[in-house]
Amino acid sequence: MADTKTYFIGQWDTFHNNGPFPTRILYDMRLEQSANMPSFFDRFNDAAGEVQQLIQDCINHNERFRAYGSGWSLSPIAHQRDRMLFTGRMNLKRIIEPDDLYPFSTFDPNDLIFFQCGNTIKEVSEFAAGRGKSLKTSGASNGQTIGGGISTGIHGSALDEGAVQDSIAGLNLIIGPGPEDIVYIERHSKPALNNGFAKKINARVIRNDGLFYAALVGLGSFGFIHGVLIETENLFLLKRYTRKIKPRQALDLAETLNFADSEFNIPSELDPDGKGTRPYHFKIFINPYNKKEDYVAEIMFKKDYRSDYPNPIPEIKKAIYKDLPTWMARFAEKHSRLIPKFIGALNGQIFPNLDHDVEGTLREIFWDTTHKGPAFAFTFGVDIQDTRKALNLFIRVANEEGPVPGAMALRFVKASQATLAFTRFPMTCIVEMDGILWKGGENIISMEDFEKKLLEAYIAAGIRFTIHWGKNAAWSFPGLVDYMYGNNDDVWKDYRSALLSKQMADLFSNDFLNTVRLSDYRVNTPEHLVDNLLQ
Ligand SMILES: Cc1cc2nc3c(=O)[nH]c(=O)nc-3n(C[C@H](O)[C@H](O)[C@H](O)COP(=O)(O)OP(=O)(O)OC[C@H]3O[C@@H](n4cnc5c(N)ncnc54)[C@H](O)[C@@H]3O)c2cc1C
Repeated sequence: MADTKTYFIGQWDTFHNNGPFPTRILYDMRLEQSANMPSFFDRFNDAAGEVQQLIQDCINHNERFRAYGSGWSLSPIAHQRDRMLFTGRMNLKRIIEPDDLYPFSTFDPNDLIFFQCGNTIKEVSEFAAGRGKSLKTSGASNGQTIGGGISTGIHGSALDEGAVQDSIAGLNLIIGPGPEDIVYIERHSKPALNNGFAKKINARVIRNDGLFYAALVGLGSFGFIHGVLIETENLFLLKRYTRKIKPRQALDLAETLNFADSEFNIPSELDPDGKGTRPYHFKIFINPYNKKEDYVAEIMFKKDYRSDYPNPIPEIKKAIYKDLPTWMARFAEKHSRLIPKFIGALNGQIFPNLDHDVEGTLREIFWDTTHKGPAFAFTFGVDIQDTRKALNLFIRVANEEGPVPGAMALRFVKASQATLAFTRFPMTCIVEMDGILWKGGENIISMEDFEKKLLEAYIAAGIRFTIHWGKNAAWSFPGLVDYMYGNNDDVWKDYRSALLSKQMADLFSNDFLNTVRLSDYRVNTPEHLVDNLLQ
């Protein structure tokens, strides 16, 4: 039997110390050992039973319940005052056999892997690599759990791949304590697994596109994600370059992603006509406090896999322009993490030498992060056509209201179909600032006020935007979610209310969901919304 330890912790914090927040109970679940229970399905179903018991116990005590993964979200989205379950040890995985597949499925079973929610991106990638497969994309590093990652919609800068949730083919949710409360949800327009597989995980099948897309970015509030079915692809290599780039060139590229006609290119990556080829990944690092300094571009091209490439890990470990939080942390350390000294340094030339060119698989290039400690991250999504306007406005607010201790980056991702995906524009430019947490005082604006100023400026300028659910923002800003999602927040609430009972919708809510006004339950939602549309 799975075994859950109960800790009365009093308070809980995120990985980057954005709390602490009051929390009564932390559950830490360990799976039954494989020596005692060798079958994948027995262990998986045993864990499901344990989660259902925890939910029942919450019901008995009229308390709420929330799973969390690595606590890497910097917003309080993972926090629950009552009871929180740490999923990091729930890391079973199973390959999909041809006879698990839905009869007319267009998926190749070799590409599909079923993971329990607590597998980290690193574990997912390692397991996939052992089968010659790779995730299609990941974030800039690999410590998030798969359950937590899709719940906020994690992304990298893989232009044409989308975010991590866009490779999910099926979701296994636990939505209550009863036998009917384990469901397996997938698209009716693109079924993946057959009813026999669902039966083996004791799940009721719902093939329904609308429900699937609503649950995909579920903010931890669409039930407990127990398992996910991921579509992988054959291993590939990424050739990574970092180069200085003129701000004008960078922004022209950002607004068009027209690499063929750009003045900026990598000579070894041109097509036979001498035009730039489309990269897999494009990211721009920006110093918001020095207009004269060139930007730095990180650009990667996808290559066929071959085994005779040099080990990239030593270079990647040293890489400076890998992910913004790590870069910021190193920069801050050089300036003793003292905010005035640090901000002073940002006024100068901050970008050091470029990294060496390297080649490696996705999991090697987007390697471990080393940075711990207090940090913040502001992350907006805008249509790429608005990149210049959004970036310039952010920089203006940072200079006029700040300065605040952070540097900026731009990343690019195509639209997700998930109802509440923040990568929702046809091509989203992610405008982000990362840095070290600061406290407001006489000489510096508070973080909360700065967050509000940013929103006010964007709204006043008529910029359409979204915000990464796992990042810092003035989440209580009136009408924020309506402004960002139009009608989609209503669609999301409808599906959630149709799938969950009122009691369970409340149990899976938290303060964050109340703050962003997504927790209200719609009593008259038609039940047919969550019908199984393909037997
Ligand atoms: C160093 C660092 C680098 C980052 N880089 C990126 C990046 O490149 N791209 C990007 O998009 N984001 C990035 N982020 C943000 C982070 O990846 C996301 O916030 C992500 O969701 C965190 O995953 P997690 O496993 O830590 O989830 P948590 O933060 O623990 O939880 C996130 C949400 O998922 C829910 N949840 C977790 N597990 C389950 C489950 N089993 N069932 C139901 N709900 C669940 C929680 O309740 C919560 O609502 C970064 C964060 C850090 C600290």
